[in-house]
Amino acid sequence: MSKLDPDCIFCKIITNDIPSYTVYEDDDVKAFLDISQGTPGHTLVIPKIHVANIFEYDEQLAATVFAKIPMIARAIQAANPAIKGMNIVNNNGEVAYQSVFHSHFHLVPRYTSKDDFGMFFKDNSANYTPEQLTEIQESINSHLGD
Ligand code: 5GP
Ligand code: ZN
Repeated sequence: MSKLDPDCIFCKIITNDIPSYTVYEDDDVKAFLDISQGTPGHTLVIPKIHVANIFEYDEQLAATVFAKIPMIARAIQAANPAIKGMNIVNNNGEVAYQSVFHSHFHLVPRYTSKDDFGMFFKDNSANYTPEQLTEIQESINSHLGD
C-alpha cells in the first residue's frame, strides 16, 4: 500500500495541493474543518497515510490516530463556550454514508438537540431472542484477530 494516493482528495489536503482550514497537524495525522460544517467547528481527523476505512487499520495506526482525538476534541470544545457536546463519527463504506474513501473521523460539536446534526438509533431489542444474540456474539468472537 503506498502512503498517499494521488487521486484522493484527502491525500491532496495532506500535501496542501488542496487548501484546508487545518486546526492540528503532526507527522501522523491532520485535522481540518469539514467543508460542509454541519455545526460550526465540525472537524475531520485523518491519518497521513491513505487507508480507505477502519477495516484497513492495524493496531499501531489506530493507536496513533485515536491518541490525538481527545486533545483535538477538547480544543474544539474550548474554542466555543456554546458547544455542549460532541458526536465522533466514523463512516465506513457507502452503505454507512462514507463518501470520501480516505478514512476520517468526524468531530461534530453539538449546540442543541435541534442543531444541524442528527443520528438515529432504532430500538430493535424486542426483535431478538437470547439465542439469536448468542449466535451473533459467538460468530463475532470466532473472527477476532482475522
Ligand atoms: P463521509 O461522508 O465520507 O463520512 O464524509 C466526508 C466529509 O468530507 C463530508 O462531510 C464533506 O463535507 C467533507 N469534504 C469533502 N470534500 C472536502 C474538501 O475538499 N475539503 C474539506 N475540508 N472537507 C471535504
Ligand atoms: Zn487518501
